[in-house]
Amino acid sequence: MPELTIAFLFGLIVGSFLNVVIVRVPARQSVIFPRSHCPHCSTAIAVYDNIPLLSYFFLGGKCRHCTRPISLRYPVVEFSTGSLFVAAYWKFGLSPALFLNALFFSALLVLIFTDLYHRILPDVITLPLTLLGFSLSYFQDPSIMESQLLENWFDLHSPWRRIASHSAQSLLGILVGAGVLWLVAALYLKLRNIEGMGFGDIKLMAAVGAFLGWSLAWLTIFLGSLLGAIVGSAYMMYRKKGRRYELPFGTFLGAAAIASALWGNDLIRWYAAFYR
Ligand SMILES: [Zn+2]
Repeated sequence: MPELTIAFLFGLIVGSFLNVVIVRVPARQSVIFPRSHCPHCSTAIAVYDNIPLLSYFFLGGKCRHCTRPISLRYPVVEFSTGSLFVAAYWKFGLSPALFLNALFFSALLVLIFTDLYHRILPDVITLPLTLLGFSLSYFQDPSIMESQLLENWFDLHSPWRRIASHSAQSLLGILVGAGVLWLVAALYLKLRNIEGMGFGDIKLMAAVGAFLGWSLAWLTIFLGSLLGAIVGSAYMMYRKKGRRYELPFGTFLGAAAIASALWGNDLIRWYAAFYR
């Protein structure tokens, strides 16, 4: 299908830019200047060596000048962005919600990788993302902003009511997403006297709630914690003794948020069907 191919190619180009953001934002560098260069020998990368996905394989994963390895993160981020844009097109079709969620997924990919590599969820991404999610909530897909709690209050057919309903759902999402994580962090600090969770995770969940509403924010925390527990216990079994390792909780939450946006309501409906 040509639309899906276009979505994939567009995702590759965006993914190429996201790679720059992942490296430069934690280092507090400009994402526009200077041009991309090899981190080992600092040689500027030629346009023909900077083609998403393809260049990595043509160059055999090595810099053309100094032959030192290029991080596998580059093709992985590019391929992930392309695939997520295809998935978003599949779910939302050509609609404002497609662009909104493609933007959301792109920001989440950046956060997934900055947390994985540096244990950082930059405020310059999470805070504007929260504001953007809330102010553009009108354009979010109704299948995501649906809520049994609010549907009884608002009639979704009139545009004013859609503004009211989606804004309320988004605001409630911010409160539930950030609030639940803040509560867990406070309990953790009180019970075990350690900071198990950074404020970055709380701000990340505010952004997720702004885009996905309260029920999918809740699901994101559930799935993210489950993923963290599985990966964490697998790590505990294989780790070397005495080594402390801080799990990148933001990475798990980010992945869970993407899954919730794409399949969350189907999962909730499937689960709820058992209790009818
Ligand atoms: Zn080099």
